[in-house]
Amino acid sequence: MLAGFAILIALAGAALGSFAGVVASRGWRASLRGRSRCEHCGRTLQWFEVVPLLSYPLLRGRCRTCHARIRLGVFAWEAGGAMVALAAGLPLLLVLLPAQPAG
Ligand SMILES: [Zn+2]
Repeated sequence: MLAGFAILIALAGAALGSFAGVVASRGWRASLRGRSRCEHCGRTLQWFEVVPLLSYPLLRGRCRTCHARIRLGVFAWEAGGAMVALAAGLPLLLVLLPAQPAG
């Protein structure tokens, strides 16, 4: 049960971190408009490409179409969000969840 909650907390943190990265790079208003695009060729990204924790390693940090290098910061914002959420949420979970019997 703890692992399930930890995964949910990490995913929520990754989503928030990813959004914070988009706001930081595009600005607040522009981040709420339109789908994400490649910064180099302008192609609209597919659903799996907007999850840098998956797509960055899978695509080896390059655009599927133009093969331009994707900024590492895109990955770092999402990974950082997951880590911050885990660091803040796990101690809280350990306090709130009832102790599991050993064995
Ligand atoms: Zn591209």
